[in-house]
Amino acid sequence: MSAINETLIRDVVAEVLGRLGQAPAAKAAPSSASSKETCARSGNGHATASTIGRGKHGVFQDANEACEAAQAGFLQLKQKGVAARAKVVEIVKALAEANAAEWGRIELEETKIGRLDHKIEKLKIIKLVPGVEWLHPDGRSGDHGITLEEYTPFGVVGAITPSTHSVPTLSGNIVNIVAAGNAVVFNAHPAAAKCAALAVRAYNQAIAREVGIENLVTIVEQPTLETFKAICGHEAVRLLCVTGGPGVVKAAMQVGKRAICAGPGNPPVLVDDTACMKRAARFIIQGAAYDNNLLCIGEKEVFVLDTVADQLMAELEKAGAVRLSPAQLERLTKEAFAFKEGHGAGCPEPVVNKALIGKDAAVLAQAAGANVPDKTELLFAETTKDHVFVKEEQMMPFIPIVRVKSVEAGIEASLVAEHNYKHTSIIHSHDVEHMTAMARALDTTLFIKNGPCMAGLGLGGEGYLSYSIATPTGEGVTNPRTFTRVRRCVMVDNLRIY
Ligand code: NAD
Repeated sequence: MSAINETLIRDVVAEVLGRLGQAPAAKAAPSSASSKETCARSGNGHATASTIGRGKHGVFQDANEACEAAQAGFLQLKQKGVAARAKVVEIVKALAEANAAEWGRIELEETKIGRLDHKIEKLKIIKLVPGVEWLHPDGRSGDHGITLEEYTPFGVVGAITPSTHSVPTLSGNIVNIVAAGNAVVFNAHPAAAKCAALAVRAYNQAIAREVGIENLVTIVEQPTLETFKAICGHEAVRLLCVTGGPGVVKAAMQVGKRAICAGPGNPPVLVDDTACMKRAARFIIQGAAYDNNLLCIGEKEVFVLDTVADQLMAELEKAGAVRLSPAQLERLTKEAFAFKEGHGAGCPEPVVNKALIGKDAAVLAQAAGANVPDKTELLFAETTKDHVFVKEEQMMPFIPIVRVKSVEAGIEASLVAEHNYKHTSIIHSHDVEHMTAMARALDTTLFIKNGPCMAGLGLGGEGYLSYSIATPTGEGVTNPRTFTRVRRCVMVDNLRIY
């Protein structure tokens, strides 16, 4: 049999089984080398139609089965076309909104981090994530005919989601990834896996009922490092989308497949003497207190010109934030960080106390030996620029305030605190030279002027929403186009109509 015929027959078998909602027993392999590997590996990456049946509504015990099922889901989506993608996007947005209160509560109960009102809001705004309308082909027309560049799917995307916004990230990823024509298999954070599986079940049930596709979105019920490796290594998984801290970004980059990495941040805020202090204080509280400072884009430390520092702190207090005394700060620091000998280059390295991540300001205040009203959203204290609360991405509703002598010194300190993550930075200023200098020096993916961090994601600023902001790999705020392959189709010397 010729190579062309063999490939054609494999594709036809895959399509037919796809229409029947089954996976091909031996998948369409791109090369004979990989089909040999396929035969040699038993139970690794090659579930059969019967093993796919073991998952229910997209939730699987076995990572390879989850990948195989997603591949079958992808083939079904391919058959059903763009209208089916648009319908899936509509379903996910509608379910996220309708279930926001219940799913938000369930996620908070499971993870025990963040705030209920914001957990709910983060699901309600999934409707702001862009869908199929984002994909416009690029056309060219000239003396030699016409050319179309189209944004086409990869196939199955492997996605890793964080504990800080499990269901919102999962839901936003589905919208982007399916709008682009792909299927997706998830490995959630183990501490936020039950709520993720619950959402995947609900999405699949609705997709099966309304679109007639099974397992377009799959998930491993009990995610581990092993299931992460199995998903990354599975041949059906063509692209990775990783949202999390430095460990997972490093692991994904070592896989050898293209990885879109939404990595960690430690966003600095600079306030100069031209800013409106009242507005700056209000926006710092809004951003840093959001979901108890779990956002990767959230304000994590403030550098303020010495001449206006007292004014800013007075405005923070007026707006409801509570100032900690030096003694209270010292106590909180001891509770919030452990210093383990032998880490780093011989120096003790801080390790964040997970028990305080994402906890309410009142809980932090108690740890600091202070009493604050329950409704307090944010604590703050003056620190030096080398303080551990400045250096570490601590994800707590406490913000260190550091006095700086000049804008230049503030930019320099911001650059150090941002750790070259190139994630997010913020300025409150009415001086365009200061804004430009900071934008150029920090070189971050998001740079927000005179607003809270979320303005960078279309929430109070112009733009669109995603919970995966690809920082080290450079794709920026992910959208459907991020999950496509650009393919060119050329007609030579014809079809140009004038
Ligand atoms: P985390 O790094 O602990 O976990 C993220 C995901 O990666 C989880 O699914 C986890 O199980 C997995 N993981 C962690 N280490 C791994 C490894 N070595 N190999 C394989 N998988 C691994 O992060 P988290 O606490 O869940 O989330 C907070 C972090 O994520 C922060 O650093 C935050 O800045 C970042 N984040 C970034 C974005 C973004 O868009 N850039 C969005 C949300 C969160």
